[in-house]
Amino acid sequence: MKALALVAICAAGCGHALVCPAAGGPAWRQLTASRVVLKTNLSEWTAKEALDELETAATHIAGLILLPIPVAERPEVVLFEDLDDYRELGAPTWSGGHFTMDPRDPETPPTVVLFARVGWVASLPGVLQSWQHEYTHFLLSRLLQRTPTWLGEGLAQLLESARIDLEQGALVIGGSESGVPLEQWPPIKDLIVADQRTFYAEANRDRYYSAAWGLVYLLQFHHPDAFRRLLEALHASASTDEAWRATGLEPDALEREIHSEFSRDLPRAQRLSSAGPVHKPPDSMRLLGDDEVHLLWARLRPWEDPSAREKARADLEEAARVAPDSEELRRLRQQLGPR
Ligand SMILES: [Zn+2]
Repeated sequence: MKALALVAICAAGCGHALVCPAAGGPAWRQLTASRVVLKTNLSEWTAKEALDELETAATHIAGLILLPIPVAERPEVVLFEDLDDYRELGAPTWSGGHFTMDPRDPETPPTVVLFARVGWVASLPGVLQSWQHEYTHFLLSRLLQRTPTWLGEGLAQLLESARIDLEQGALVIGGSESGVPLEQWPPIKDLIVADQRTFYAEANRDRYYSAAWGLVYLLQFHHPDAFRRLLEALHASASTDEAWRATGLEPDALEREIHSEFSRDLPRAQRLSSAGPVHKPPDSMRLLGDDEVHLLWARLRPWEDPSAREKARADLEEAARVAPDSEELRRLRQQLGPR
């Protein structure tokens, strides 16, 4: 998950969220490219532009992960034009995007949910940052048998910072600052064993995110061979202990290295060669029917919340009016169960 750095300009009461096309809301489109399937209520022109950017960013991220195994599968990206609509689907208020793999339904594609605008402020750089973060989580979920929390969040934060410098034809990475001063970072030996509960606990979250970013930065740029061995071991189902042993690195030595690297407050951008942006038309593009839009919303709502569950049921009723025999409708009804 990607923490949101923006203050919500438009809080509750800013209009009706989630109006479907049949009720006069914006059209939804599905655009497909080689690394991404985009579903969005952005205008056609903006949607095509967004698809180009998502595809280019995904190509770079895939090339930056030090495990050269291609991932053919495409995640679905649901890009809402407005923050309000994104929030209506139950995203945590501090998140700027999230990645879900639906444990209820293995047939549902892994999905990254993002928004393009806060109030009247368009935020394509923000979208790309969140996308790169979530796409990293997606790739790791496909490449590794298990992903320790520090590794997933550390690498996602590092790679979210990648930017193309068009003038110099370079990919610039690692320029982002860590949010929390070094003195507050947890020791590496605590960080690498922290489970999700510990890592995301409110009292720890910022410190652990920062330390994870620092540790992954060090591994990616100062110990790439050791880092590759760690990723290869996790790809091959090693335990996290075995994967650490494969690096040949000592946590105590890394701790000292972290202190000497990050006690200096330097801009630490790395410049890598870049193939530049990918510009090509979508492989396919079509409008989504009103039923498909409601099925999408129903699937994204947080069902653990009873009121969201009711809204999901209402979505399914709307979808049934258009396409009562759809296979996805049948599946979602079955999973949602009776009232
Ligand atoms: Zn994350």
